[in-house]
Amino acid sequence: MARPRVLITGGAGFLGSHLCERFLAEGFEVVCMDNLITGDMRNVEQLFRDASFHFEKRDVTEHIHVPGPVDAVLHFASPASPIDYLELPIQTLKVGSLGTHKALGLAHAKKARFLLASTSECYGDPLVHPQSEDYWGNVNPVGPRGVYDEAKRFAEAMTMAYHRFHGLDTRIVRIFNTYGPRMRLRDGRALPAFMSQALRGEALTVFGDGSQTRSFCYVDDLVEGIWRLLNSKEHLPVNIGNPTEMTILQFAQAVIEATGSKSGIEFRPLPVDDPKVRQPDISKARRLLGWEPKVALKDGLGRTLDHFRARVALGPEPTRAQGVR
Ligand code: UDP
Repeated sequence: MARPRVLITGGAGFLGSHLCERFLAEGFEVVCMDNLITGDMRNVEQLFRDASFHFEKRDVTEHIHVPGPVDAVLHFASPASPIDYLELPIQTLKVGSLGTHKALGLAHAKKARFLLASTSECYGDPLVHPQSEDYWGNVNPVGPRGVYDEAKRFAEAMTMAYHRFHGLDTRIVRIFNTYGPRMRLRDGRALPAFMSQALRGEALTVFGDGSQTRSFCYVDDLVEGIWRLLNSKEHLPVNIGNPTEMTILQFAQAVIEATGSKSGIEFRPLPVDDPKVRQPDISKARRLLGWEPKVALKDGLGRTLDHFRARVALGPEPTRAQGVR
């Protein structure tokens, strides 16, 4: 029997590359598509050893053509950190809207299952805590994060329209803060910032007074949740994240401890519309997928450390991997 075939957009990014790896391990042929604006070939170079891995440098906001059968499409292409949205606001809007449309169109043409990478940003600065999937969110459409939040909300609506109108077999995962190897040093998110600062002996830049909360999921747990969701029958959104909530100040201290660094903490202004709290309610994932995260923060930080040590040793990176516009 022929191997099942998956297309992963954004496959050279942080999450995309871990998914490529998992699908190869599950016996899939993997077509990894990326325009490398925020993706990085270093994330997938070890996968070229496997003859079932294929890479296509392509912008998914333009017509995408994949010859041959495709059984599943995972749409993970998007800038995904606040610095990236500021630098790439129009690309962020385009990949969430036009890119989702193209990826859905391809899935429809190939009669493939489709999974959308959505986000806890759909809940905005939430007025309901913890966030369950039936909460509609509190998003500022015209703030700096609006380009990401609204693109992803549009992408969810578009995915449901393809499901309802065309009968496409779709899934939507709402991903909460995730960390692990292959994050870019300077993508601006808390973990890469803190870990590279701690390893360089620089002060950790905590925004605001650090009392805002987040809940951090190790990437392997996230990938397992996505794998289970794809193999489920649930069409409505499912939260995947780690419900262990902490303040950003506590998180910075956990990074200092994990790295054994002598760095201190420096407080900086809080970015506009930075959500004050965030914690996934994962009852639905527990019930439908029998899933919950297994990797404790201390272990996850330990597993992430080698990657950051190696990248920090290479010297400064541009804010975006390729420094292109
Ligand atoms: N943050 C911080 N220092 C940094 C980067 C981020 O204090 O150098 C804070 C940020 O303001 C937010 C939290 O850490 O409250 C998580 O930020 P991140 O960009 O990782 O993800 P978000 O959850 O905001 O999308």
